[in-house]
Amino acid sequence: MSAVRILIVEDEAPIREMIAFHLARAGFESLEAADCKEARRLLADERPQLMLVDWMLPDMSGLELTRLIRRDSDYADLGIIMLTAKSEETDKVSGLDSGADDYITKPFSSRELIARIKAALRRTRMATTEVLEAGDLRLEIAGHRVLAKDAEMSLGPTEYRLLKHFMENPQRVFSRAQLLDRVWGSNVYVEERTVDVHVTRLRKALTEHGLRNYVQTVRGAGYRFSATIKGE
Ligand code: CA
Repeated sequence: MSAVRILIVEDEAPIREMIAFHLARAGFESLEAADCKEARRLLADERPQLMLVDWMLPDMSGLELTRLIRRDSDYADLGIIMLTAKSEETDKVSGLDSGADDYITKPFSSRELIARIKAALRRTRMATTEVLEAGDLRLEIAGHRVLAKDAEMSLGPTEYRLLKHFMENPQRVFSRAQLLDRVWGSNVYVEERTVDVHVTRLRKALTEHGLRNYVQTVRGAGYRFSATIKGE
């Protein structure tokens, strides 16, 4: 098995090199970017498994970069650890639901860094081996693929996350507000009607594959996913 590739996004060369040195010692391969533009090129070309991203970068903040990447379903399996200089920044990272899996406050020891990286990789690896199945549907988290009766479905990133959430919680009724919170994130300001729009798109995609009634409307309550119970 080839080494795990980690992308370091940090404009301060000495810090970047120091991190790369510790990663190499721990058996990781590293890629280095001094700004977000270079980071995005490396993400697309080199497909790292994890990204360490500094908060303060010249072209875009690490937080903005994280948000951008989290909106892109191509990088659903990428682990992200944010590096922050001050505790205020840490507060913002934790409070803003940036999409980072973890954050480390500078200065940090190499031991702490490696421990956090291993923990993040364990979490993503756990997520990536998972397959969710319901009726004629199969969702492969690692491959980011949804199969309906063995035919691959084409879903937008939001529909994919919505379906994944439903399949992880079958038979449960979720209100629009709960779905917004769990699928879109608690700090995203979108109207509840947005949920209906994406549920409609998801249903349409399922129906095109002959799967009807998997996402059911529960009057006055919200939506429920079920491959077995027939809806109203
Ligand atoms: Ca910096």
